[in-house]
Amino acid sequence: MEKIDIKSLTLSELTEQIVALGEPRFRAKQVFEWLHKKRVFSFEEMTNISTKFQQLLDSRFYINSLNIAKKLVSQIDNTVKYLYELRDGEFVECVLMDYHHGTSICISSQVGCKMGCTFCASTIAGFVRNLTPSEMLDQIYFSARDSGRKISSVVMMGIGEPLDNYDNVLRFLELVSDENGLNLSLRHLSLSTCGLVERIYELAEHRLGLTLSVSLHAPNDKIRSKTMPVNRKYSVDELLKACRYYVDVTRRRVSFEYALIRGVNDSEKDARELAARLRGMLCHVNLIPVNRVEETGYHASEQDGVVRFQNLLLSLGINTTIRRTLGADINAACGQLRRNRHNFKR
Ligand code: SAH
Repeated sequence: MEKIDIKSLTLSELTEQIVALGEPRFRAKQVFEWLHKKRVFSFEEMTNISTKFQQLLDSRFYINSLNIAKKLVSQIDNTVKYLYELRDGEFVECVLMDYHHGTSICISSQVGCKMGCTFCASTIAGFVRNLTPSEMLDQIYFSARDSGRKISSVVMMGIGEPLDNYDNVLRFLELVSDENGLNLSLRHLSLSTCGLVERIYELAEHRLGLTLSVSLHAPNDKIRSKTMPVNRKYSVDELLKACRYYVDVTRRRVSFEYALIRGVNDSEKDARELAARLRGMLCHVNLIPVNRVEETGYHASEQDGVVRFQNLLLSLGINTTIRRTLGADINAACGQLRRNRHNFKR
């Protein structure tokens, strides 16, 4: 019998399993705390549980763990990038960033990505598999342990498309916010999507309080379909309609990511068109000079062009910020650490 990934079970699922093994319900909460609060590596360490039951658990379940394959620390601002090796030898990366309000972690949701955005490094080597809930959680647990920092917010903006791994991501969200575990308020979590419209509608119904971040990167279908293949399935209109619905249901502001690519989406006309489309929506635009990814041939807009784009949006009533660059000296843009490792392995 294949062992079950115990750290991916929600508390109610774990309770069901433990009761089925003939133990009282409160045992599940004890085990859950060992896994998600004290974060042990083995059942033996669960000292308030009988040896016999520890052994029974060990015969049925495994405790996921990650291996730090590489760690880069920025000398400029303390940003840390981890490349983690998973149980099956695959790799994912995550990043720890210090802000004035605390430490934020950016985690991956898949090994590789199938969305095919033309500016993104994560998608170049293709898609391998979804991450399990425990593999998403462990990026947080292992990074917190290794760095000694207390993580106060989580962004799902690493490798992969979280809404393409929907069920596991929902379980992850339940686990990460469980009061018997990390107990993170979902107000401190952002989920970034390239815009899988049906999933945005579904997610809205859960009314989770997280921040939905949508990678828009273009003011119209013509530009967006060129850089983001997902747009050929869902048009900008359909996407923005889903975002408006999300805002209506959750009363939460949607955040739009907009990576500025020189000569592609950064003209004054683009800014005006973008402002017109977002007018009246409870939203925020986050501008990012596109990160250099060798294969794409794209270049970031000049700094003054970025500021001009921002000022124009602001003057048209759109709440707009420019994303701060962190960890510039270790800037393997998102997805590049894993890809280098991948090439190296072959
Ligand atoms: N699949 C999700 C989350 C992962 S990407 C999504 O599409 O939102 C996280 C963010 O980084 C997205 O906004 C993505 O569009 C952006 N991104 C990808 N490559 C980039 C690059 N080279 N420069 C700047 N931002 C990039």
